Amino acid sequence: MAQIISGKAISTAVKAEIRTETEQLAMQGIVPGLAVVLVGADPASQVYVRNKEKACAELGFYSEKHLLPADITQAELLDKIRALNADDRIHGILVQLPLPDHLDARQVMEMIAPEKDVDGFHPMNSGGLIAGTHRFAPCTPAGVMELLYRSGFDPAGKHCVVLGRSAIVGKPMALLLLLADATVTVCHSKTSDVAAICRQADLIITSVGKAGFLTGDMVKPGATVIDVGINRDADGKLCGDADFASVSAVAGAVTPVPGGVGPMTIAMLMKNTLTAAKRK
Ligand code: NAP
Repeated sequence: MAQIISGKAISTAVKAEIRTETEQLAMQGIVPGLAVVLVGADPASQVYVRNKEKACAELGFYSEKHLLPADITQAELLDKIRALNADDRIHGILVQLPLPDHLDARQVMEMIAPEKDVDGFHPMNSGGLIAGTHRFAPCTPAGVMELLYRSGFDPAGKHCVVLGRSAIVGKPMALLLLLADATVTVCHSKTSDVAAICRQADLIITSVGKAGFLTGDMVKPGATVIDVGINRDADGKLCGDADFASVSAVAGAVTPVPGGVGPMTIAMLMKNTLTAAKRK
């Protein structure tokens, strides 16, 4: 039976370290500040924004929530970002995605000052992942790296298979693993025989977004499985991409959903905001 890698426990440890550093910074009169921008009233996004505010309060950060109408124009949204870029109380800016269709998310990301881009989506940061010169890595893949190291998995020299190639999870995940000296294979919807590739992996990171996608017969005995997926099963219960019962019977270690990668994403957002405040 696989060891369970608890993102809940590891994120609690990360947050405790952040809190200690925040208290030390406060003695120098510096309070890390995060601005979260939400356009429209998407219920899932509202939950994410609330969780981020809660984490800020818990860690002693200053936070601002900017709720903007769904029909805001691109120019008005860019003006808001410009104002936050110039605001000294704010060290990190996060624009909650997805944005309504009439807005150009890429242009919005490019407007965020790279030194305040705590989500790591500005091209200076996402492009910097290629050379390893990024100021911030996107929070979910950065959270996976933290989970790996803190649970004793060093990717150097290992064959790591990343399932999914999105700009926010799969691609930055593969680049972070390469920077950590892993041998990386990225699979996507056009990959032939994903199962055979997975069976060669020492580490599988799945970010496909399909319940039950990864089954035990696709996992090499003893391999580590990190499940980024957030899905609902047939009963409406929250689950990852892995069929937990069959995967955990074969894998050496596995993350649960919920309580795996999810809590790490917020912890890394807080860590990036603290880093931005310290650099300032
Ligand atoms: P996405 O943009 O929809 O990307 C999904 C990826 O899976 C795509 O690259 C797609 O390939 C690939 N894919 C689809 N079917 C496949 C198949 N049969 N075989 C192999 N690859 C296949 O999703 P995302 O934004 O990366 O998110 C992925 C999952 O992670 C979702 O469940 C999301 O909710 C979750 N997520 C969790 C967190 C967290 O904090 N835990 C954060 C972000 C996302 P193509 O490129 O060819 O279409």
